[in-house]
Amino acid sequence: MKKIQAIRGMNDLLPADSPLWQYVEGVVTDILARYGYQEIRFPIVESTELFKRSIGEVTDIVEKEMYTFEDRNGDSLTLRPEGTACCVRACEENGLLYNQTQRLWYMGPMFRHERPQKGRYRQFHQIGVETFGIQGPDIDAEVLLLSARILRELGVSPHVQLQINSLGSTAARANYKEALVAYLNNVQSQLDEDSKRRLETNPLRILDSKDANTQALLNNAPVLLDYLDDESRVHFEGLKQLLDAAGIQYQVNPRLVRGLDYYGKTAFEWVTDKLGAQSTVCAGGRYDGLVEQLGGKATPAVGFGIGLERLVLLVQAAEVVLEKLDQQADVFLVAVGDVQNIAMQLAERIRDELPFIRLIVNCGGGNFKSQFKKADKSGADVALVLGEDEAREGKLAIKFLREEAEQQTLSFDDAIRWLGSLE
Ligand code: ATP
Ligand code: MG
Repeated sequence: MKKIQAIRGMNDLLPADSPLWQYVEGVVTDILARYGYQEIRFPIVESTELFKRSIGEVTDIVEKEMYTFEDRNGDSLTLRPEGTACCVRACEENGLLYNQTQRLWYMGPMFRHERPQKGRYRQFHQIGVETFGIQGPDIDAEVLLLSARILRELGVSPHVQLQINSLGSTAARANYKEALVAYLNNVQSQLDEDSKRRLETNPLRILDSKDANTQALLNNAPVLLDYLDDESRVHFEGLKQLLDAAGIQYQVNPRLVRGLDYYGKTAFEWVTDKLGAQSTVCAGGRYDGLVEQLGGKATPAVGFGIGLERLVLLVQAAEVVLEKLDQQADVFLVAVGDVQNIAMQLAERIRDELPFIRLIVNCGGGNFKSQFKKADKSGADVALVLGEDEAREGKLAIKFLREEAEQQTLSFDDAIRWLGSLE
């Protein structure tokens, strides 16, 4: 029979990879807690309308990347392509934005029908951060410091660069759009096909075209930063001052725009040259208009999303040394003969008294040789050996699997004391 396979671009995360993922997720969520951010969880499926109204009808995501389907009631639903819109929906619905500030994060799968390649998948995972209710550039700086710390504590700082820009107010962007379109209309025939199409639909996106010729044409184009409204200019200056004072290096990239319509004022990306074309590891910005756009009261907001697959790939590419990550257990209990009952009780006692030890008990029998093979494969440093003779005397043998040290035989109590001294 033909075997059923996973959907293209949707990956399994295998046991061999999950320790690295857990490590990365652990570092990130730990840092989030240290900054006072709280977790929020919301569904993977939402009304299609939510994404159309927030991300924008003429964006790549809504035009061609969403997994949209009709459910049995005939309602149009969509697997979430990103988390910001969902987060806003959940906060509004549960009254989290009224007269208060929020610092939130979430983690989970997102779905976009893109062409799968390294760093680009159809189901991928994001850790998202969203803050609500704070207007000034201080909170923009805070989320950037937070993202910088994540990258630093994961050891990938040398391989990433922060790019920032200001997208200005809606009115400023509209003025700029006019000037840009006027300029690009003159060189229209020389643009790449995608950009020609975007000239009609979403001209700002032409700024981050990957086409070299289009990029060259843009060298003489009007610059977004020259069109900023005063408020956005002051905000951007304030942010730069805060980043300078904090010693965060950045590059102002006046062509940085985001693929989602709701951003205004601050926009930023952490980019790397370690992952080929999929260079953006973390991206975000300010979206003061979104809450109102979705039916709430105007609420300032800023946040970002980290692509977890890309972050994990970057940690691997950076060859950060992570000890013990491929170790399944610290200790393996070899139990040979009619001793399984005693072995399992002993293991429970060790887990009670020494919770920091990861302990595997052999199950399924086998002779010494086959059990030691399993012990070795588990990555354990130490094997506790319980045979029928040892069990009778209330003792066990300690065997070192990774170092040249003599085997010792200890009573259960002494063995537990000795294991305790390993912490
Ligand atoms: P890109 O320009 O790479 O398509 P984007 O602007 O569409 O990214 P956002 O919507 O801002 O990305 O999502 C934030 C982050 O999520 C990205 O910076 C990236 O790290 C990650 N990401 C986005 N799409 C994918 C995908 N298809 N596969 C893996 N990671 C993704
Ligand atoms: Mg994209």
